[in-house]
Amino acid sequence: MNIANWLNDAGRRWPERPALFEGQRQVADYATFAAHVRSRAAQLIGEHGIAPGDRVALFMKNSCEYLELLYCIWWIGAVAVPINCKLHPVEAGWIANDAQARLIFTEGGKVFPPEMLPQGCCELNEADSVVCASFDATTLEDPCSRDADDLAWLFYTSGTTGRSKGVMLSHGNLTAMSLCYPLDVDPVSPDDAVVYAAPMSHGAGLYNFIHVRCGARHVVPESRGFKADELFELASGLGDLMLFAAPTMVKRMVEQARRQGYGGDGIKTIVYGGAPMYLKDLQEAVETFGARLVQIYGQGESPMTISALSRELIADRNRPDWASLAASVGRAHSCMEIRILDPEHRPLPPGQSGEIAVRGPTVMQGYWRNDAATRQTLVDGWLLTGDIGFLDHAGYLTLTDRSKDVIISGGCNVYPREVEEVLSQHPEVFEVCVVGEPDVQWGEMVVAFVVPRTAGSLDESLLNAWFVERMASFKKPKKYVFCTELPKNSYGKILKTELRLWLKEVANGTAVP
Ligand code: AMP
Repeated sequence: MNIANWLNDAGRRWPERPALFEGQRQVADYATFAAHVRSRAAQLIGEHGIAPGDRVALFMKNSCEYLELLYCIWWIGAVAVPINCKLHPVEAGWIANDAQARLIFTEGGKVFPPEMLPQGCCELNEADSVVCASFDATTLEDPCSRDADDLAWLFYTSGTTGRSKGVMLSHGNLTAMSLCYPLDVDPVSPDDAVVYAAPMSHGAGLYNFIHVRCGARHVVPESRGFKADELFELASGLGDLMLFAAPTMVKRMVEQARRQGYGGDGIKTIVYGGAPMYLKDLQEAVETFGARLVQIYGQGESPMTISALSRELIADRNRPDWASLAASVGRAHSCMEIRILDPEHRPLPPGQSGEIAVRGPTVMQGYWRNDAATRQTLVDGWLLTGDIGFLDHAGYLTLTDRSKDVIISGGCNVYPREVEEVLSQHPEVFEVCVVGEPDVQWGEMVVAFVVPRTAGSLDESLLNAWFVERMASFKKPKKYVFCTELPKNSYGKILKTELRLWLKEVANGTAVP
């Protein structure tokens, strides 16, 4: 089934129901939403020759148009490639090329054909399009027929090797993910208003489907991003607000709510996940917002859907086992199985830590044009998540570590290797290694250990200037530690564990080598 059928259906069943909002202003009901998509889909085919299976990339900030474009792409059976709008255009260009996108939509409704995006180029500000093909408008009344395993969304995650990987999500994956939501996370009513405060290219955008299916409202804040006070105003004005937020966003909401004496009126649910939530922060969030929080654990390879921790449990501070359960990521979603594996991929009993493996209908079809990575990650029908954790006897899963070295800073994933790649290209950098340091504000911050070629030839401002020319600024190290050598094992591999100890010494004022 084509997931765009849900919009087609909603437009017919509830034509007058409010659908799209810019801030508190309604800009479309469901009939209009579906009609826009239908006519724009015809345009995509007529003007750009987009056919089923073609990839179409979006590199833009959140907007109602974003949602319409996504549905246009699915309506004609094409594949959406939403690119994080915080990425550098060079990175976006790389993704569009890797996905072999026929078109890329950018800010201001500009459309670019793929020829404009040669490898590594960022010509996103010039030229226009494109190809013409004949089309039959009658075929567009309903969405193009799709099978469950046909691709719908190429979800680009950063790879530990420094190269992004395109996670292939099918219509079936997205349907299963959406159907689990009301069962395991939060029931949905037509009065709900899902607000897109985090990028639609990721988790927040993935929650659109179930809200379309239920004829609920979709709200893009006027700021087109995350501002806690704006969210509270939207909640008071619109009511029944639901949002997905990274733990650092929840923390900022708590701080703002306390400043203005706001207790969560108008907010129905805050779903948090994507990074660890520290217990102290969760306690404060529950004190401030009451029983409005639900946690999910997922990853691009099984989007938003591995396990969930219920609102009731999170709010029940009187439970004697609250602290240990609230520190977990909850129990498996209805359609998922979770196993803990030892290094030989044998299942481990409850209580023992190992790699988390999952199986179910939300698990990706594989990585786009990367069979080697697919074979390493999908083994005997199980997805190896790269996360380390354990299950208890009641099925609660606790994450203990990340086997991949990803740094989660401000809710965004930063892969040390790609930061190292950029810094090591600087002519004055001899060696570099990047690790995460726990940080109250950001969750973790990016720290670069740098060995200069010549003592004193580098400083923070030189490296920052080098970095912002080449990569998104949220990945920029917040701290540099200059040293004469890096600790290595007998194979010559840099010892990150040792570097983390050095960081403590730097904090204590002890000099590093
Ligand atoms: P991404 O594929 O960008 O969504 O990142 C997924 C990774 O984020 C997971 O593999 C985990 O390491 C981490 N993660 C996701 N949800 C949670 C959570 N609720 N608690 C802790 N870490 C999480």
